[in-house]
Amino acid sequence: MSIKQFSRSRDGTTRITPNFLIREFASNCGTDVIMLDTRLPPILERIRELCGNKSVRISSANRSLAHNRSIGSKDTSNHVKGGAADITIAGVENTIICRAAETALREAGIPGELILYTGRQNFVHVAVDWQGRRYRGINDGTLRNAPGWEPLPATPKQATPQSPPATAPTFKQYQIRVRLTDPNSFLHIRSSPSNTSNSIGRLKHGDTRTVIEEANGTAVNGDTVWLKVAGVVTGWISRNLTFREQ
Ligand SMILES: [Zn+2]
Repeated sequence: MSIKQFSRSRDGTTRITPNFLIREFASNCGTDVIMLDTRLPPILERIRELCGNKSVRISSANRSLAHNRSIGSKDTSNHVKGGAADITIAGVENTIICRAAETALREAGIPGELILYTGRQNFVHVAVDWQGRRYRGINDGTLRNAPGWEPLPATPKQATPQSPPATAPTFKQYQIRVRLTDPNSFLHIRSSPSNTSNSIGRLKHGDTRTVIEEANGTAVNGDTVWLKVAGVVTGWISRNLTFREQ
């Protein structure tokens, strides 16, 4: 059976699902005993998700029999057994909540009970009905049968599938040889394709390296192409000061 008994003092701050504490389902009369049908919180989680991950406010969930009678509800109410919640979501129309509830119940394979309270009462009653009974209604002071609501299109549940990592376009590597007009000078390997970026190493005339990437950077003698060369130090050199070997 999915109906469990909890204690407000002992279990109140325990999360039954990621966004709901057990105490949120407690009877408003203040009794310590909380009866809860554990199929209900996941339904509320899904409604929350379908309504844009906005907080669901529960105005009444479990009710002690005495409290239920005191507000004039029938003893057979799903609230007494811990299977119902009266909810609102700030900024979301109650009819949208009904549509989200239709989706959530349908996905869970629970016929459920769904009543839209209009006018002064203005909330949505959602129940997981353990007798397998489906009920839809509108209460505008008088309870009337309703056909139900068009389910909201089901957006993906929390764990969205990861798209495969984009494969980098393959760059055809080639060799270069450093060509300096002054054989005693050095060519700086830069941290980025710019002759003002940090020098992280240097090459001398005649050194060879493998080019693993090309990019545009600052112009050297009118040539804006920079080459990323691999080696003990991997960094950028201007193409202008090299020639291609193969
Ligand atoms: Zn209710």
